Amino acid sequence: MAGLDGGRLNIGACSLGGAQRCLDEAIRYTKERQQFGQPVAEFQNTQFTLADMATDLEAARALLYLAAAKVTANAPDKSRFSAMAKRLATDNGSAIVDAALQLHGGYGYLKDYPIERFWRDLRVHSILEGTNQVMRMIVGRDLLRQ
Ligand SMILES: Cc1cc2nc3c(=O)[nH]c(=O)nc-3n(C[C@H](O)[C@H](O)[C@H](O)COP(=O)(O)OP(=O)(O)OC[C@H]3O[C@@H](n4cnc5c(N)ncnc54)[C@H](O)[C@@H]3O)c2cc1C
Repeated sequence: MAGLDGGRLNIGACSLGGAQRCLDEAIRYTKERQQFGQPVAEFQNTQFTLADMATDLEAARALLYLAAAKVTANAPDKSRFSAMAKRLATDNGSAIVDAALQLHGGYGYLKDYPIERFWRDLRVHSILEGTNQVMRMIVGRDLLRQ
């Protein structure tokens, strides 16, 4: 069970890295793709979506690093933080890759671009090393134990 704390950080980190790449790809593609005479990046909806993706990414990164510090220090609440970080990083990763795919339009769904593979790759992270429902169970139980 103790080994799972580190494993969950690992899965969260995989989501974080994938999500960062998705944000990078979405920025690059929306600056390049022209619709209605302008880059898709110029539409306010695109900028709002990118802003949310970046915010969710940094929130996941911050909690993941905090949980990693707790696991390294063998803190008494390390399992709760590891479960919280895994849940947040993988849920945010799923949301970010989905948003990146949407910003790519139809090309996001085709194999011409890498996003459809990232979508499949990141999806499994909310299942691996314990599903995100089980992460919530761990956090809820630990909160009530205090
Ligand atoms: C590609 C891949 C690689 C894997 N690699 C490994 C590996 O290397 N080592 C390893 O040990 N395992 C590995 N697994 C297994 C993985 O850890 C499990 O799939 C995961 O923990 C979920 O367990 P389960 O599939 O038995 O789902 P189940 O436990 O059958 O869950 C089914 C559903 O019920 C829900 N559920 C279950 N229990 C509760 C509960 N108490 N309260 C509320 N909801 C609940 C779940 O959230 C889920 O929605 C791998 C799985 C995959 C898909």
